[in-house]
Amino acid sequence: MKAHIDCIFCDRLKLLNKDPFFIFENEHIAVFLGDHQFYRGYCIVVTKSHVRELFELKGNESQTLMNCLKKVVEIIVEWYSPWKLNYSSFGNVIEHLHWHVIPRYDGDVNKLLNPWANAERFSESPSMPVHANALQEAFKRFNDPIID
Ligand SMILES: [Zn+2]
Repeated sequence: MKAHIDCIFCDRLKLLNKDPFFIFENEHIAVFLGDHQFYRGYCIVVTKSHVRELFELKGNESQTLMNCLKKVVEIIVEWYSPWKLNYSSFGNVIEHLHWHVIPRYDGDVNKLLNPWANAERFSESPSMPVHANALQEAFKRFNDPIID
């Protein structure tokens, strides 16, 4: 892993075991519970390589990323039974490739709009480490949850 100065994700990746919202890692990927749980089960999938764009991933990193996204979604569906999953990867603010996996529910306000339409209300539901622990356990149930 090549860390980058002044990158919040590179900093978090250095301290995974101390991060209360860390869920899972393998050689190329780490998964965190989102910093809010306005959407229950919201997770962030982060590449361990500090790259801005998908095409900068090397070897099997992109396949591992896709497999990891799929596994995160499967676990979220099993645990939270959302109506729909939303996926987003911007990187305009934090220029380190990452994906937001956002479960949407029947009762969501503005469920037909993009999830950031509710951004003003995110602070109403701060992330709780106990939820990260529960999802860590969900990942452990798979022998090799992310296949390279
Ligand atoms: Zn970085």
